[in-house]
Amino acid sequence: MPFDVKMAISALRQFNALIEEKKEFLTDLDAAIGDADHGINMNRGMKRVIEKLNSKEYADFSALYLDVAMTVMSVVGGSAGPLYGTFFMKLGQKLSESEEVSVGELAGAMQEGLNGVMSLGKSAVGDKTMVDTLAPAIKAFRDNADGPEEDAWNAFANAAEQGMKDTIPMLARRGRSSYQGERSIGHQDPGATSAFYLISCLRGAFTER
Ligand code: ADP
Ligand code: MG
Repeated sequence: MPFDVKMAISALRQFNALIEEKKEFLTDLDAAIGDADHGINMNRGMKRVIEKLNSKEYADFSALYLDVAMTVMSVVGGSAGPLYGTFFMKLGQKLSESEEVSVGELAGAMQEGLNGVMSLGKSAVGDKTMVDTLAPAIKAFRDNADGPEEDAWNAFANAAEQGMKDTIPMLARRGRSSYQGERSIGHQDPGATSAFYLISCLRGAFTER
């Protein structure tokens, strides 16, 4: 069962709904170590993404993820907007005009997206950012790409959850939370949390297909 454009759209709808449900929680996480806007930013951006998707038909990944990237970049704002925007942009470029891809191809494209995030954010694993969710998750997804698909999707989401939780004891080295220094320790990173939501919604699209 390949990953197709329909599943990609379903994942984005689920992500919008989950962000809507968790916006206060995300904002509370950002209040502890940032400026309390991550939930609001992501909620505003994902709502606009869905409005856009509702107004168009998408035949391939590149058109879909280009629209998502442009909307997220211009509407989410803050640091997360350009970072998530870059992630979706690179994902779309790599998947290009295909309508469906294997887990291995999807995981490889996500690695490109992650590389884009890390290079724009000058961030690495351990800096207490969304990278700490994305990197181990994508690695687990790639490592399991040749086995049963369900195992790959589960490994992807489980590693994302663990990566998110692993940000709690970290000292923030990038973004606004780095201004908190030692006070950033003991709080879960908001962007690592929204990145876990994104990955669980991608897995959700696989599960419900
Ligand atoms: P802002 O920090 O501008 O208020 P948001 O609150 O929307 O933006 O997003 C904050 C999240 O963005 C952080 O929790 C972190 O995960 C992510 N982030 C910030 N800076 C970077 C960076 N340089 N590299 C990777 N991720 C980052
Ligand atoms: Mg913020």
